Amino acid sequence: MSERAAAQKTADDHVRAPDNRPRKVAVDGSAASGKSTIGRRLAEQLGYAFLDTGVMYRAVTYAALERGLSLQDSGSIGELAQTLPIDVSLDCDGSGTRITIDGSDVTSHLRSQPVEDAVSLVSRIAAVRNALVSRQRELAERQPIVMAGRDIGTVVLPDADLKVYLDASIEERARRRYADFLAAGDEVSQEIVLEDIRRRDRIDSEREVSPLRPADDAVIINTDGLSLDDVMDRVIGLVRGGK
Ligand code: C5P
Repeated sequence: MSERAAAQKTADDHVRAPDNRPRKVAVDGSAASGKSTIGRRLAEQLGYAFLDTGVMYRAVTYAALERGLSLQDSGSIGELAQTLPIDVSLDCDGSGTRITIDGSDVTSHLRSQPVEDAVSLVSRIAAVRNALVSRQRELAERQPIVMAGRDIGTVVLPDADLKVYLDASIEERARRRYADFLAAGDEVSQEIVLEDIRRRDRIDSEREVSPLRPADDAVIINTDGLSLDDVMDRVIGLVRGGK
């Protein structure tokens, strides 16, 4: 095979797996849009690894809070993100992305209220994003992957073979998140859940670095009134090459 044909073959392989499936799938969306659930289920169906990038931002936030760093001190938090010995276990069996810091598994702490309140502020810091985006790109090179987040299609994997952007009205997202809390036995008010989502959406969309927005070539799915199965059907259709 000529060098040119070999280069073309490599480029083609990169775009689609041998059976013509996309190898890198980006699933972005606003808070509680269902991107982690859909991303995880899709990865399971395809037999791909799954990375929920939100847990990486949550891990840096957790570590910053544990160390008593001020959320205004972007220099120290940025340095922490660059040096923190975070180990990310890609989800290969539907059990969720797990995070270890300095050898101890901190995954169960990452959805606590203090982390929830601070994570969007930590995620605005450019040095934090640079550190985590490099790690995310490295992880994506190892195997076919579905990656969920806010900036996967725009920044982390602009070359992703399929980009999906999930959205839904804030009321619908708050209802779903509230139901999750109730199912987990957590007592919260629906108004607080809604306000929390509104606040995070605003900070994530208005930040200077990598604001939340769909990539130009993303397929936007509004999930209002759709069940999880409906959304999965739609996404699987896209994987198979549909529109
Ligand atoms: O997805 P999840 O709600 O766990 O994300 C928590 C926060 O992490 C988001 O509100 C956002 O501030 C940040 N994040 C981000 N970029 C990503 C994933 C998450 O800025 N790719």
